[in-house]
Amino acid sequence: MNRERNNKLCLMYTGGTIGMQRRGGVLCPPEDPHDFLKLAPELAKSVDFDYVPIMNKDSTNINHEDWRTIAEKIHEHIAYGYKGFVIAHGTDTMHFTASALAFAFGKCLRVPVVLTGAQTIPEVSHGDARVNLIRAFKVAQTEIAEVVISFGEFVFRGCRAQKKDERRFDAFESPSYYPLGYITEEILLTGLARTRTGAAQEEGEFLPYFSDGIVQFSLIPGLESRLIEPVVRDEGCRGIILQSFGAGNVPTEEGRYSVIDIIRLTTDLGKPTIVKIGRASCRERV
Ligand code: ASP
Repeated sequence: MNRERNNKLCLMYTGGTIGMQRRGGVLCPPEDPHDFLKLAPELAKSVDFDYVPIMNKDSTNINHEDWRTIAEKIHEHIAYGYKGFVIAHGTDTMHFTASALAFAFGKCLRVPVVLTGAQTIPEVSHGDARVNLIRAFKVAQTEIAEVVISFGEFVFRGCRAQKKDERRFDAFESPSYYPLGYITEEILLTGLARTRTGAAQEEGEFLPYFSDGIVQFSLIPGLESRLIEPVVRDEGCRGIILQSFGAGNVPTEEGRYSVIDIIRLTTDLGKPTIVKIGRASCRERV
């Protein structure tokens, strides 16, 4: 394919409810990923885009190797001149993939990469599959030059979003950063997104590499740190994430619940420890 050959959008399909079909009473990814295009046939009349199915997975099965595959596919197609990307993805791990892509591209991204999915399968006529896909195409035609999640009425920064509801159509939230845009008749950008013009001035490196062996512990009162220790000592463990309480608080009172010795141990073993804030819910926190 010629570089800079086109000025089109690119729709990449990875799977998820947005494309699923009911077979034998069970929801499954379509046997033929091209079936996904039947979701919104009108798009072909109004938007110039190419369709690239990459994988066909429920997103609960997506892992760090898939993040790399998706990132590399986007990178390859950016070189062909596509001016924006819509990535259809399952909702369960969409925010992980969005974060992974945001870190893989960093400042070298100059086009929108818009992830979307749905709470209902295409056959639900009042559902969100078709509308979310069409809206994501609108977002992919804006000035944004970031990895974003377009879902329901919102456009969120990809590495700030999280899934908040498994049924309602406003399935995602961005508790620690304002929305980048609102989806109305027009896409109303809030002015917080990195833009194509701004991005053109920046240099960055494409780094689609993700470690395996990362283990996350969600701290609960009374969790004995001796239970974490064997995991930290395991050769396959390359680093741990401690999901803390509140603003990053962890048990430190001397005794069996303190995680101080765990943090010391991981540090001595040369494995990073990340203390993650508890579930953020403060919209004002930016
Ligand atoms: N389990 C599905 C997935 O993440 C859920 C969804 O897409 O809404 O692929």
